Amino acid sequence: MKQLIVDGNTALYGIIGNPVNHSFSPDMQTRAFQHLALNAVYLPFPVMENDLPRILDAFKLLKVKGFNITIPYKEKIIPFLDSLSAEAKLLSSVNTVKWTEQGWKGFSTDGTGFIRSLGALDLDLKGKRVMLLGAGGAAKAIAVSLANAGIVHLVIVNRTPERADALAEMVAFCNENVEISCNPDKPLPCDLIVNSTSVGMKNGGCPLDNDQVELCGAVVDIIYNPSRTTLLREAQKRGIPNLNGIGMLLYQGVESFEIWTDQKAPIHVMEESLNKSLAIG
Ligand code: NAP
Repeated sequence: MKQLIVDGNTALYGIIGNPVNHSFSPDMQTRAFQHLALNAVYLPFPVMENDLPRILDAFKLLKVKGFNITIPYKEKIIPFLDSLSAEAKLLSSVNTVKWTEQGWKGFSTDGTGFIRSLGALDLDLKGKRVMLLGAGGAAKAIAVSLANAGIVHLVIVNRTPERADALAEMVAFCNENVEISCNPDKPLPCDLIVNSTSVGMKNGGCPLDNDQVELCGAVVDIIYNPSRTTLLREAQKRGIPNLNGIGMLLYQGVESFEIWTDQKAPIHVMEESLNKSLAIG
């Protein structure tokens, strides 16, 4: 592999957010550039909300080619961008920005990254019934991508019912072929359950009753830390195929890389970086 030499031609990429210093993306993306002998580096930039417009001016001045956005700026960045992909516009959420001839263009790779991560389950989504837990930012991106991937029924379950209804309306608006229902009052058989709530991150909580877990064909929990949530352990106990959120994290980064470089990302290199970062903690 050609060694990366940082010089006057090195392109700069990065991630903005607050906090951002523990992000796994700088190592993952820089190793991917290096693997393909692209003269580029990727750095974390902690940014205060008041500084958002100025950071974009600074990035333009420094000829930054692209960057990621994480919590809490995925929506707040939008007024400062010049254009949006159709998906970012629909979701009102941007996690990837690329410098183009027309200025800064925003994309959302969370949903497509999620769908690509399902490759590990070898599950064809066409004609499937999916239960989605949550109606926050990640749930929105996942719901729209699931609908576009050909599922026939989406069941949305959320603590705040109004947010489940709002998400159902949005999915119906962008895909009228999917049957949608919210917060069912009894367990339902389904091909896939996706947890996109934060329940399970701390205190070992489980977002579902076991009688619902028993009725599903596969389980995905988009939480990646801890890597085995209570929900995934309940699925495992019952022999139900299951997957954590590392794949989604990987593929949203893979998609960002491909948007920036127009090249196929070295997925195995990026995966290795993520696994190392997760092991270090
Ligand atoms: P968010 O917009 O804040 O949404 C949080 C969701 O969790 C909402 O639906 C909320 O319900 C629900 N929730 C929170 N606490 C709850 C509780 N105690 N009981 C029941 N429901 C509860 O957050 P987000 O950005 O969508 O992220 C959600 C999770 O996905 C986080 O764990 C995050 O780490 C993970 N994530 C993973 C990836 C990845 O790449 N793997 C990417 C993005 C996010 P209400 O509407 O009722 O508040």
